[in-house]
Amino acid sequence: MLKNEEISMNHLDCPICELHCRLTEARQGACGLYELQENRIVERFADRYLVACPISIETAPILHFYPGAKFLQITTTGCNFNCPGCISTVLVREMFPDSRALQHLTVEQIVAKAFETRCEGIVFLMNDPLAAFPRFLKIAKLAHVRGLNVGCSSNAYFTSEALSQLLPYLDFINIGMKGFSDNAYHACGAPEILPVLRNLKALHGAGVHIEISCILTRENQTELLDLALHIAGISRCIPLQVMRFLPFETAAIALEPSIREAENFCRTLRHVLDFVYLFNTPGSEYLHTYCPQCGHVVLRREFYGPMGAKVQMPESGLSQSDRCPVCSRDLNVVGPAAQSAYQEGDFEGGYPLTRAMEMVEAMLIAMGVTQKAVVVRAWEDVLQNGGLNKLHQSIQHPRTYIEAIRYFGKKADAADRAEVLAEYIEERLARIETALASVTRRPKVYYAMGKPLFYINGGRLENQLVETAGGISVNRELPDGGRPGRTLSVSELNRLNPEVIFISAFISNPVEDFYTECLQRGLQVAAVENRRIYVHPSPGWDFGSPRWILGLMYIASILHPDRCTFNIMDEANAFYRNFYGVPFDPLDANRSFSKPNRRWRWQE
Ligand SMILES: [Zn+2]
Repeated sequence: MLKNEEISMNHLDCPICELHCRLTEARQGACGLYELQENRIVERFADRYLVACPISIETAPILHFYPGAKFLQITTTGCNFNCPGCISTVLVREMFPDSRALQHLTVEQIVAKAFETRCEGIVFLMNDPLAAFPRFLKIAKLAHVRGLNVGCSSNAYFTSEALSQLLPYLDFINIGMKGFSDNAYHACGAPEILPVLRNLKALHGAGVHIEISCILTRENQTELLDLALHIAGISRCIPLQVMRFLPFETAAIALEPSIREAENFCRTLRHVLDFVYLFNTPGSEYLHTYCPQCGHVVLRREFYGPMGAKVQMPESGLSQSDRCPVCSRDLNVVGPAAQSAYQEGDFEGGYPLTRAMEMVEAMLIAMGVTQKAVVVRAWEDVLQNGGLNKLHQSIQHPRTYIEAIRYFGKKADAADRAEVLAEYIEERLARIETALASVTRRPKVYYAMGKPLFYINGGRLENQLVETAGGISVNRELPDGGRPGRTLSVSELNRLNPEVIFISAFISNPVEDFYTECLQRGLQVAAVENRRIYVHPSPGWDFGSPRWILGLMYIASILHPDRCTFNIMDEANAFYRNFYGVPFDPLDANRSFSKPNRRWRWQE
């Protein structure tokens, strides 16, 4: 328990983060995870975890520390910040910290689990360890005594007092910066940036391995360049992870930079810092480690879900990567590289869990649920008893997806409204199937995510939609793997020779940029020659939300315009009015699976 000298009879200023929330017996502060008991600050629900499972460290994401190694991820609920458009909203704002879906584990059990699962160490991520500081400190101490590495992803809004307690036991940190101005911090509910810069200096001074991540929007490039210059003033070899902003929750879609804009900006940043990486950009080569001296590619990585990366492991294992094998330049890589790859389960490890939780929420919101408690109950059902695997299977096929709607409708006491939604989708599905029953000419369709060479695994819903819409999915001819797919070569794609290409509506790319890159890379396929490359009219129309029925109608109308003559905008309007009670406005939609637009709010 933390003590504080400012103790008075009725209140205490929280000494853990620089928000210095005034805690009283009735008031719990910004994160809601601490309370005052007999003039001491105690953690509420101190032994509960949403996640405690092994991951590969690039999932954290950390790229220059024990590359490819297995670490035990721990995640709780809650956050001291409240950032607009946060991908973790489901677990920092919506999940109840006392939910029965959370596992009870003691500090000793967490450390023992790291050993049992043969992890190199323990890493706290997804929500902020500042919302669970006393236990994280205890875990770090015990893990260190036992020879494990300890790290976290954090906004680093530690007080000096809290950080000095943690420093002797912290081996690595990913500092999630919000920008490079007080304004950027105001937007997240914090008064100023200063404590983060102070802590960055202290962490560097103490020899902790640091990586810095920062969201890139269409509005903060100047600020990010200033941040890079500031980091370079400390050390040019601190890795900078540029998170291409995917607008969730209340954030506007207009803030999302295109892949081309983001890659161009990373090229600029690489003049300032030795190691700049681009996330949320499937197929981007800006996720590899290049030697800053000779340009040799030392570590190759692949997109691995939002905010995630996966190192590409040669069969012989990774070679030592602290120095360039060509020119011997120091690459600021700490620790030995792994000799075998660790494969996370479906939705397991890092941010895909937030997507799974949002997919359940998406079904419930479309059946009119507006209360968090109802959604939390459905999550509890999924998070217990291996429900995640079942969910992962059922959302990949239109028919099983419809069954899942009925299942969650019953769980949420909304069976009637679930039935209306299920019947609506079934009716459109049947109409398409009937229209295409006798079709003989099925075009070959390739489904990309982000850049042209990143393909979506054949088993995923997007490819099922293609087949239901009367196409042949060439993705099914490619090996499964990766999350949600992997990169193929130009010659492989040329051999598949798709006639039509769709770009994922989740992590997307403007058609014009995509087409230009196809030409630059020398792709010679019918879809490029005939410019038959398409992106859905709105995000979230091909995965993650019941709105996939709109995406299916769109694909069918592209592949077989003679047989499927939907007016997509009318259909979208009808769907939004029926199931969300609002008209469809493409400018209001963002990357959220669950909420229909950025104005949607919970009813308390
Ligand atoms: Zn080199």
